[in-house]
Amino acid sequence: MVELSGVTKDYGRFRAVSDVSLAIQPGRVTGLLGPNGAGKSTIIRMITCLLAPTQGSVSVCGFDTVTESAKARASIGYLPEFAPLYPEMTARGYLRFRAGLAGLRGKAAAAAVGRALERCWLGEVADRRISAMSKGFRQRVGLAGAILHDPRVLILDEPTTGLDPTQIRETRALLRSLALERVLLLSSHILPEVEATCDQIVIIARGVVRASGTPKDLLRASAQPGYLVLPGRLTSAEQLEQLAVAIAGLAGVSGVAADATLGAGGLRVSSTESGGDLREPIAVLAAQQGVLLTELQMLRPSLEQVFMRVIQEAA
Ligand code: ADP
Repeated sequence: MVELSGVTKDYGRFRAVSDVSLAIQPGRVTGLLGPNGAGKSTIIRMITCLLAPTQGSVSVCGFDTVTESAKARASIGYLPEFAPLYPEMTARGYLRFRAGLAGLRGKAAAAAVGRALERCWLGEVADRRISAMSKGFRQRVGLAGAILHDPRVLILDEPTTGLDPTQIRETRALLRSLALERVLLLSSHILPEVEATCDQIVIIARGVVRASGTPKDLLRASAQPGYLVLPGRLTSAEQLEQLAVAIAGLAGVSGVAADATLGAGGLRVSSTESGGDLREPIAVLAAQQGVLLTELQMLRPSLEQVFMRVIQEAA
């Protein structure tokens, strides 16, 4: 497990990370999501022992990253955004070279390289030059390099940058399988990529954790669903007016507006956070007033809208 407890990081007088507490669990892919400058790299550099917190503490597999940094570091595999690959080497050659740098020799090195190639689905291209590989395969070579020493914690900086949708899907499956037995934390500023890859999302802005949870949790917590109400053609202007007033009076409704794009008489209803599902009360009101509804839809906000709102609130 990776644990941050009351972590603050100041660069001189500038506070880049402020009182962040997080427990990152193994067995799932966790995404650190935030706009550029949010403090993601600073957090990652503190977890990977490259920076010491100004206040608070970080532990990796139970080792403090300042007082037991050698042990903490040995538990971590790290893949930077631009992994240093040597294009003229083959995947296997590169991994042998990396194994040597990690102090592995002989049979232990060969076993580690074989295992990493297999774990990152590189068996077929093991002896191909890196220069002849697609970006997706190159990234897997980088990942294989990061897990050579079989770390309990794997940290990836913007791992999906520049990958096409198919490659992102493959990366998602690969990361899932790598996360089964370890903590896997990745950072990104691109929401669809995090949404596609992560089980757990931590949204950070201006150095503060603004929201965290599964994508579903985040939607539920900040869901202010809207409703689309479409009365039948026989509804009179008076009935429509009365219906709009009645809906506006429902608990949990924050606004009702006519929306011509929905067709004649179409209404858009906005609700407050605590509103719950208002479809039934709306349908009952319409029935009481003799209005037949041809459509009644709940519109859930997307994760993108939730993310944008969280970021705007932090600005
Ligand atoms: P992110 O990775 O989310 O883009 P960073 O952690 O790199 O964010 O940066 C967070 C904030 O800290 C930014 O405002 C950045 O300008 C500032 N910052 C980062 N590194 C330094 C540094 N070495 N000295 C001063 N300010 C820094």
